[in-house]
Amino acid sequence: MTGRTLIQKSRKEFIEELAESVAEDYCPKNVIQPEIIADENGITYSYNNYGLCFDGMLEHRFGKFHIYISLNKRLVHETSARARFTFAHELGHYFIDEHRISLKNGKTPSHPSYTNFQSKNPIELEADLFAACLLMPKSRFEELSTGQIFSFNLVDMISKKFNTSLSATLIRYAAIDNNHPICIICSQNGRVKWHRTSSDFGFKYLKGYDENISPWTVAGEYFTKKIKRTSDKEEVEAKEWYKIGENYNRMLYEKCIYADAQNLVMSVLWED
Ligand SMILES: [Zn+2]
Repeated sequence: MTGRTLIQKSRKEFIEELAESVAEDYCPKNVIQPEIIADENGITYSYNNYGLCFDGMLEHRFGKFHIYISLNKRLVHETSARARFTFAHELGHYFIDEHRISLKNGKTPSHPSYTNFQSKNPIELEADLFAACLLMPKSRFEELSTGQIFSFNLVDMISKKFNTSLSATLIRYAAIDNNHPICIICSQNGRVKWHRTSSDFGFKYLKGYDENISPWTVAGEYFTKKIKRTSDKEEVEAKEWYKIGENYNRMLYEKCIYADAQNLVMSVLWED
């Protein structure tokens, strides 16, 4: 259901620590620069318009590693948050031993990667996790987020500090235990595609996978009436999003980001 549950907790912690130590080794002070990390490890790289075939790819040839980053319409330019995330994802395939060794041994061919948080392939999920933890190391993230009430402005500020996309920053925010609990829901054409929940968020059983999203949610309002809310937060009854018993009357806040071209909405839910 939520892609990330495919990685065991101990494995997640291992990857998080690995990424954090790479961040500390190569970029201890400033914003993480994937190019510096590649240079220091003798990995060459190129940016080019490779069309829509892939966002990134790590290749092993004649004992050398090379990273391709596609500057297609969505990635825009080399320093864009999306290109940086793709680069960090490919570095994940290099730094995670099992990924690098199997590529080196020719056990797995070079494979194209897509940076869209939708993959269900555990190898891709691990590289995505590595990328998020490398670009947004836990210790540095917590310096900005611990003890703060959740708000979109807070996450926006953090995303600018790390030069990461708002969606990647929200997902990282939810994954860090001491942060204000939130739930992120990505929906398309009226149904939920995936969601990520902070471990201590107050609700569990989300509706919208096998049935249409309630029109009484902010996302549902977009799908049914094309209404887009621009305020910082809207109130929504928890029962519109969740199958719930004793929490029936609780209220949630919802804020949406809209992607009209894909008829896609990302909702964030939280309580005070
Ligand atoms: Zn990949």
